[in-house]
Amino acid sequence: MVTMDEIVALCKRRGFIFQSSEIYGGLNSCWDYGPLGVEMKNNIKRLWWKANVQLRDDVVGLDSSILMNPKVWEASGHLSNFADPMADCKVCKKRWRVDQLQEYKCPECGGELTEARMFNLMFKTFMGPVEDESAVVYLRPETAQGIFVNFINVQQTMRKKLPFGIAQIGKSFRNEITPGNFIFRTREFEQMEIEYFVKPGTDEQWHKHWIEQRINWYYKLGIKKENLRIREHGKDELAHYAKACVDIEYLFPMGWSELEGIANRTDFDLTQHQKYSGENLTYFDDETKQRYIPYVIEPSAGVDRSLLAFLIDAYEYQQIDKDDFRVVLHLHPAIAPVKAAVFPLMKKEELVKKAKEIYNELKYKWIVQYDESGSIGKRYRRQDEIGTPFGITVDYQTLEDETVTIRDRDTMEQVRVHIKEIIPYLEERIEVKF
Ligand SMILES: [Zn+2]
Repeated sequence: MVTMDEIVALCKRRGFIFQSSEIYGGLNSCWDYGPLGVEMKNNIKRLWWKANVQLRDDVVGLDSSILMNPKVWEASGHLSNFADPMADCKVCKKRWRVDQLQEYKCPECGGELTEARMFNLMFKTFMGPVEDESAVVYLRPETAQGIFVNFINVQQTMRKKLPFGIAQIGKSFRNEITPGNFIFRTREFEQMEIEYFVKPGTDEQWHKHWIEQRINWYYKLGIKKENLRIREHGKDELAHYAKACVDIEYLFPMGWSELEGIANRTDFDLTQHQKYSGENLTYFDDETKQRYIPYVIEPSAGVDRSLLAFLIDAYEYQQIDKDDFRVVLHLHPAIAPVKAAVFPLMKKEELVKKAKEIYNELKYKWIVQYDESGSIGKRYRRQDEIGTPFGITVDYQTLEDETVTIRDRDTMEQVRVHIKEIIPYLEERIEVKF
């Protein structure tokens, strides 16, 4: 299996991910997505949106603000629940609330603890020119609350009946004590969340539905089955408001870790917001003529850790011949940052002209690259390393019969295709049928 160091090195070498503010020595746990990283990240978000919003009649989108009225965090429990003195075990890395410990050591393994500090996971800042308590606002620690506080707005304007969901992709911020493992755990991260509102009593069946939907999404996009598993939370790990929670875990280099959580949050959030806001957040059920607060199922995925999983899963250091190796990313074409690269076989004017014509046409559809430098073999390898699924080469035969070769990244086999057939050929292989 690939190591995290190899992935970090590839990401830097090929422009996927850089350390934030690197010329100043960086900033702990902050990362910048480079030209290829941002394309890949956008692809992941678009494919999530497509599967969960575009193709579903029962889910609509939202983009709520990062800064919210601080009362939101009072209602959600984030203000009180995250303001504890915390310390980490230096041995097993478990985090403990110091005020609940009998002795100042790890209750699990007896290891030494880090220094305790008052810890609220939320980033605090000030709104407006005066930095006093009344001006305190927080960077959201999850996108979910922006959805809950808009429940009535969305339900009424979209005239949605239960069951229906609201989806959102956006940045969240958590002042983690121990971030790490590259982009797996960072203090600034991006979430893809759905709050799916259902009639109480139907929640368990919808929970199952979403677990299945979500794991299939990863399968469809090429994650190997043996690297994904479902893990149900034990009663002791459940958040106080959750009735059940299931994690989709991926086998990262540091072991099985959470890729996505799918929780049954019951009616906790809407009930809290109804209480703190004084607004009626109940739903009127036409069929039963009853008013009630819906239950909610929440599939909550991380964009950054999905991207990391896709990279790790796709990575191969492959021996081709006795002394011939290549690094290849077997990314699903829909996820790959660059869909195709166009090459003139040689740097000859008539080949270059034709290749550029093809390149300029493909640009309208996808992110593609043009490359005329170095041997054709070297150019293929450069693309293999960034996961470009198709290499299109213009050669002398092209000038005679308008055909090009299309090389498959994974099999390295080539087929001849008419220029007019390039777009349909690529389209068929890039499109995902969810
Ligand atoms: Zn310990």
